[in-house]
Amino acid sequence: MFDLTTRDIKYISGVGPQKATVLNKELSIFSVHDLIYYFPYKYVDRSRIYYIHEIDGNMPYIQLKGQILGFETIGEGRQRRLIAHFSDGTGVVDLVWFQGIKFIIGKYKVHEEYIVFGKPTVFGGRINLAHPDIDKTSELKLTAAGLQPYYITTEKMKRSFLNSHAIAKMMVSVLQQIQEPLPETLSPKILSDHHLMPLTDALRNIHFPVNPEHQRKAEYRLKFEELFYVQLNILRYAKDRQRKYRGYVFETVGEIFNTFYSRNLPFELTGAQKRVLKEIRQDVGSGRQMNRLLQGDVGSGKTLVALMSMLLALDNGYQACMMAPTEILANQHYETIKELLYGMNVRVELLTGSVKGKKREAILAALLTGDVHILIGTHAVIEDTVHFSSLGFVVIDEQHRFGVAQRARLWSKNVQPPHVLVMTATPIPRTLAMTLYGDLDVSVIDELPPGRKPIATFHQFDNRRESLYQSVHKQIAEGRQVYIVYPLIKESEKSDMKNLEEGFLHICEEFPDCRVCKVHGKMKPAEKDEQMQLFVSGEAQIMVATTVIEVGVNVPNASVMIIENAERFGLSQLHQLRGRVGRGADQSYCILVTNYKLTEETRKRLEIMVRTNDGFEIAEADLKLRGPGDLEGTQQSGVAFDLKIADIARDGQLLQYVRGIAESIVETDPESRNPENDILWQQLRALRKTNVNWASIS
Ligand code: ADP
Ligand code: MG
Repeated sequence: MFDLTTRDIKYISGVGPQKATVLNKELSIFSVHDLIYYFPYKYVDRSRIYYIHEIDGNMPYIQLKGQILGFETIGEGRQRRLIAHFSDGTGVVDLVWFQGIKFIIGKYKVHEEYIVFGKPTVFGGRINLAHPDIDKTSELKLTAAGLQPYYITTEKMKRSFLNSHAIAKMMVSVLQQIQEPLPETLSPKILSDHHLMPLTDALRNIHFPVNPEHQRKAEYRLKFEELFYVQLNILRYAKDRQRKYRGYVFETVGEIFNTFYSRNLPFELTGAQKRVLKEIRQDVGSGRQMNRLLQGDVGSGKTLVALMSMLLALDNGYQACMMAPTEILANQHYETIKELLYGMNVRVELLTGSVKGKKREAILAALLTGDVHILIGTHAVIEDTVHFSSLGFVVIDEQHRFGVAQRARLWSKNVQPPHVLVMTATPIPRTLAMTLYGDLDVSVIDELPPGRKPIATFHQFDNRRESLYQSVHKQIAEGRQVYIVYPLIKESEKSDMKNLEEGFLHICEEFPDCRVCKVHGKMKPAEKDEQMQLFVSGEAQIMVATTVIEVGVNVPNASVMIIENAERFGLSQLHQLRGRVGRGADQSYCILVTNYKLTEETRKRLEIMVRTNDGFEIAEADLKLRGPGDLEGTQQSGVAFDLKIADIARDGQLLQYVRGIAESIVETDPESRNPENDILWQQLRALRKTNVNWASIS
């Protein structure tokens, strides 16, 4: 049978090659299928037709039915505009166009009946509708219920007359050409068990709902399906991996672990740290390969958990390795861990891009003989030249800087894969974690080490610097250290660099008795480390920096974090930055400095920061405010981007529900033998083929 949906849209009447090119470029719509799966973002009720004598300038979008009495062009050059006088017998309004004048005059005829749709405004005592949608009365048949779909379009599309209305018309034409039902993409059992609308009905109703009830049902069915396959994909993949790979079994808690615990551990573990360690021990003893995501707010003590898990590997005769996203962080982990292991017979080495020559060769050789027990480094540790004698455990710190592909490299070398612990301080809301890392088990450290005082956060406008600097002077006099962060969203932007440089000079003037160091991402690593070291050692009291300090730096004596132009940072970034202070026993402060003009959203962001220190609450709020596409950690995986209709922020419950369904299918049909599920595996294969991001997960 000829499948219409695979057809190139340029052959569809009403589209044509020129518009097709724009659709290709702007929306990646190539086939009829792509077009049909381009869903409206809202509907406007067009069931009511207003009379002109009823309208005033305060109404939302309305529609009118009547005739154009005549056209008139006014003004010259950029001022030029076209006016059509439009009447329905109860009054006259002006339809106004600033662009595409020729096209409009050619297209619409005087004294024919049209339905006009637009937002009325009053200008010079007359009622105007600027750039209205116009249809012949006969064209609107498909939208009998009056729910008119609205599609997102881009500037480029509008310039080619591909506005929302034009897309709707294409959609009418395409849907009319679909005579027979499209092949169903869910099994009959799922459809009936969960009372879902059949696919073809759902697709028709999502664009042109017969009534609001049908619109809701169509939307539910399509969201259900979308989230279901995201979950089925991840769970199927996890199951296959489980069947394919055995995990190393760490049977004993041995001498290394116990010595560390009883002799070296400088403090009592928190309850949460103990619980997570137990979860990890269960995993690595189970015979399955562990893939665990460890979430814990900044300062919650993830490093210690990582270290103790690595010691477990050592106790069982394996090596361990820990990757950090930057050299600075790798160095810091190396120093911390060496110190923690002081006096113990464990060899720890550091491997980063700057470890070269003889030193590097020696480390590589000792890795092969097994003399190096723990390797700490940047992504240098996964280069092809690095080979272990028996790598059993891998820790990835701050994983959002490591792409999914890099994570995958750890076990693609055709050997038995090590256990993997991914740590992140960017709390990922549950629903999002399920979508992004549904193949990982999740542990949470939801408790800070004792004695930490919540960081007091304030919002201050930038014209009140004097009082701010006075408090800073006071803190420094008490021996504390201070961070001042400037936004450097794009490292290349000159204006941003200027901010930082000027800020630096300004601070040097304001604090003549202090040593001020400076760190930004464009510095050479050696220079950066040198400046960083000044601050870590306490020689410098103030650090002026960009967000390069966001991740991981640990200076417990720093008690003040000032964030300049805080309006330019996202919530999770603000939270990360704030986490650089409050690491010691002293009361710490975070001051968010902004100018006066703030958008509503920015105001909300600042309010949340002032109100709470809870990373999860902040992450949830972030998800609601910005949507998942912007959340840190989602970029590389891209899955959240690919959702066409479901919304991770809003459809969390549905996500959980369909996950349960997908789980039971994978559990009861582990080898895909049940014919009832054939349709599901077929569809999954098709989706994996067309969806780049899905493929990269698996
Ligand atoms: P993060 O989770 O942000 O990586 P770290 O592991 O860097 O946090 O720990 C932050 C600080 O808390 C470190 O100085 C660490 O030594 C300290 N710490 C960790 N666990 C405990 C504990 N159980 N009791 C007291 N301090 C702890
Ligand atoms: Mg850390």
